[in-house]
Amino acid sequence: MDLMPISHSFDEGDKRYASASHPTYVRKRNRRLQNAVKVVENGCRFVVDPRTMMNIDAIQQITADIVKDVVAPNAEAIDREARWPKQSLRALQDAGLAGLVVPEAYGGLGYGTLALAQICEQLGSECASTAICFGMHSVGASVIAANASQDQCDRYLSPIVAGKHITTLSLSEAGTGAHFYLPQTKLEAQPDGFRISGTKTFVTNGDNADSYVVSTVAADPDAPMGQFSCVVVPRNAQGLSWGKPWDGMGMRGNSSKMLNMDNVHVPREDLLGKEGDQIWYIFNVVCPYFLMAIAGTYLGIMKSAIEEGRNHLINRHHAHVGLTLAQMPVLQHQLGQMWGEFEKTRQLVYHAARSFDADEPDALITLMSAKAEVADGVVNVVNEAMTLMGGIAYRDGSKLHRFMRDARASHLMSPTTEILRIWIGRALLGQPLLAD
Ligand SMILES: Cc1cc2nc3c(=O)[nH]c(=O)nc-3n(C[C@H](O)[C@H](O)[C@H](O)COP(=O)(O)OP(=O)(O)OC[C@H]3O[C@@H](n4cnc5c(N)ncnc54)[C@H](O)[C@@H]3O)c2cc1C
Repeated sequence: MDLMPISHSFDEGDKRYASASHPTYVRKRNRRLQNAVKVVENGCRFVVDPRTMMNIDAIQQITADIVKDVVAPNAEAIDREARWPKQSLRALQDAGLAGLVVPEAYGGLGYGTLALAQICEQLGSECASTAICFGMHSVGASVIAANASQDQCDRYLSPIVAGKHITTLSLSEAGTGAHFYLPQTKLEAQPDGFRISGTKTFVTNGDNADSYVVSTVAADPDAPMGQFSCVVVPRNAQGLSWGKPWDGMGMRGNSSKMLNMDNVHVPREDLLGKEGDQIWYIFNVVCPYFLMAIAGTYLGIMKSAIEEGRNHLINRHHAHVGLTLAQMPVLQHQLGQMWGEFEKTRQLVYHAARSFDADEPDALITLMSAKAEVADGVVNVVNEAMTLMGGIAYRDGSKLHRFMRDARASHLMSPTTEILRIWIGRALLGQPLLAD
């Protein structure tokens, strides 16, 4: 099957923000600015919607506070109890960060993949489950926003921006596994909308989300090969049911669940873009945002693992020589190597995200490589940090124990490391990415 032409660049005039000039949202933004100006003219206190003032430094500071006050104190229990990080997500929503990647024209903060990677990095440094739950919400929001209709803005994006709605991405299926871009879930046109039947697996945020961005295939046997679509399914749609709670080795707060859709009816307005648009969404929105959310999350683990190891070297004192481990050249060397691996990977991730946000034509190959390198890097760095820390890290309940289990998922969250490297190789060879 040849779904993807050799080119791995983005469409001319990248559609991500094609609707940014949507009249309603332009009006909304102008009204906000007008209000601010009016207040100043009247000689009152300068009051503006704080979101218009949120530059990335402010967002990072807010996130740092949330990480310190809410995410870190809950991380161990979230892992132990496999509990969805409700308080952390609530704090992020209350702080106005739920619309991080929703374009400003829709009332969101209007940031791209770099900000998403950086916020997930901060969250992931303490709790990878929280980072992924926030990341998958943000990826879902970016997919809805990519070609949002007025109705989709009103019913999904506005509540997302207001911190009242969590969405999430539901692409994976048992039948096609790592080939997440090949759904088998059926979409049938009805006089008043669509009927959806199928089962999605590993849906992060599980039944805690308010809506699901699902991929489907046209039920019509005459539909052309590769005719996939994206649809938003509200949680309260009739016919949704859930599999057992997630009991994974790591990422235990994800609340990933199997989602069954049994003749679920959705209105025509819930179709994203046009029928058959899914592959465009996959490469222009899902992959870039997803890859950077994941990459940021695991960069956060790498950073914290290095910090754990470093602290141990400084504080661990050996009585027989009267020295700390920080004075052993071989361990200094090992710490230096770990930092190098982290820093080069971080620079690759940031570079990839900046390239995508700047619409550079070769961004996709760099994004793919960044996620694959992070996956190798995080497993390696956490493993090395365990060496630095000796037995204390090997105990049940240690931070590195959790990091090690969480880190391993980086390879298997689609696009998996194997699939990414195949795609990169194909791109370099001038072959279509989706040849199987
Ligand atoms: C914690 C967690 C959270 C997740 N969250 C979500 C989510 O929110 N939404 C969602 O849609 N999905 C989610 N997933 C699913 C995930 O993205 C993958 O789709 C899924 O884990 C891979 O499918 P599989 O396990 O069936 O792998 P399989 O298809 O069984 O593949 C097994 C291995 O074979 C490799 N492989 C498969 N085909 C090839 C090939 N042609 N060439 C080379 N190697 C190949 C794969 O890379 C993999 O390593 C999540 C998974 C996890 C573990």
